[in-house]
Amino acid sequence: MIDFMDNMGIGRNVLSIARTAEEKIQNRFNEIDQNALLCQVKVLSAFKNQRVSDVHFVPCYGYGYDDAGRDTLDKVYSEVFGAQAALVRPNFISGTHALAVMLFSVLRPGDILLSATGKPYDTLEGVIGAGGAKSGSLADFGVGYKEAGLKNGKPDLEEIKKLLLENNNIKAVLIQRSKGYDWRESIGIDGMEQLISYIKSIKDVIVMADNCYGEFVQDREPTAVGADLMAGSLIKNPGGGLAPSGGYIAGKAEYVEMAADRLAAPGIGLECGANLGLVKPLYQGFFMAPHIVAQALKTAVFCGALMEEMGFEVCPLPNETRSDIIQAVKLGSPELIKAFCGGIQGASPVDSFVTPEPWEMPGYESQVIMAAGAFVQGASIEISADAPIRPPYVCYMQGGLTYESGKIAVMSAAQKVLNAQRSG
Ligand SMILES: *Cc1c(COP(=O)(O)O)cnc(C)c1O
Repeated sequence: MIDFMDNMGIGRNVLSIARTAEEKIQNRFNEIDQNALLCQVKVLSAFKNQRVSDVHFVPCYGYGYDDAGRDTLDKVYSEVFGAQAALVRPNFISGTHALAVMLFSVLRPGDILLSATGKPYDTLEGVIGAGGAKSGSLADFGVGYKEAGLKNGKPDLEEIKKLLLENNNIKAVLIQRSKGYDWRESIGIDGMEQLISYIKSIKDVIVMADNCYGEFVQDREPTAVGADLMAGSLIKNPGGGLAPSGGYIAGKAEYVEMAADRLAAPGIGLECGANLGLVKPLYQGFFMAPHIVAQALKTAVFCGALMEEMGFEVCPLPNETRSDIIQAVKLGSPELIKAFCGGIQGASPVDSFVTPEPWEMPGYESQVIMAAGAFVQGASIEISADAPIRPPYVCYMQGGLTYESGKIAVMSAAQKVLNAQRSG
């Protein structure tokens, strides 16, 4: 065993800390397995109810009229997510694209968007255009923006109420489930339910959720607890590591139709769109997703436990309830961030020989470093770690298609951090 680990550059010290860490999280693992079973039942039931069959995997081209594969996949998603309708398309370039389509589909000039969970994910800043009306942004189209900052890492209910009552034109409220690049708790599904009913009790607005990294982490999704719309990426949780690209929007039928019209063109939204032969991995990925998410969750919990054992602050704590697959580790310096990311990259199946360096990524505010050695470029359901290079120098780790490979990558990262501490 020790010799094998030598191949990955993992020493006895880290192995022994890892053993201690893993012993402490066995209960957590049982809960993760329980939840995966629940989610798997939901997914299987939907496949059964929608009578998924070979004919749905047939490629189609051109306009894509009457593509039963596309239409049935939409129904499978909507059933599992407790939504009236869904729009699942490989044509969504990314999560940001799906979120942008969701926002633009319901907001009109003169409307205001309210973020109820503080600053949204970095890539949405350009979409919203709050800092200056970037061409093509919501601001450029005359859509206003308000933000209720977080209070002690939680939604600030008083502030949300105040903004809702002060601004008549608030039409939609955005809730981000996951912590993104923030040091805060994610919004648990029960908390989400309470927050949505609180918002709706003050004003009849459209509630939209950024569900990126949240799918299958708990037993329900935002649309099942009152969200009118939600969006996410297929190269994160719901793609199960098999989707080659894409995103989804789910929610109330009338809004999903508006989103389809915005993605395509008014009038042809849900009717058209060739699947180009990409539909089968979307089905298979969704079938695998509850299990894959469980693997990623175990990797995250293990990472939290190991790094805590090594003396770092981690968020969430190993025994805290999770609502996304992200594990944040406060490393405290750019050097340790580079070391950690280098360790993840070095134990990835693809591009293990490259050294991640910080760069100006499109859509991000500060320089960002990303470790990603994935079969699908940028797929963060595969093991990955990233960090904006800004104080307090927090690194965000997520993914892991199998717990075994995730565990090895996390130990490799811990080893690199230990080496950097010794030499620094
Ligand atoms: C990943 C992510 C996004 C953006 O998704 P991309 O696919 O990277 O464009 C948006 N919001 C949250 C919370 C995310 O985690």
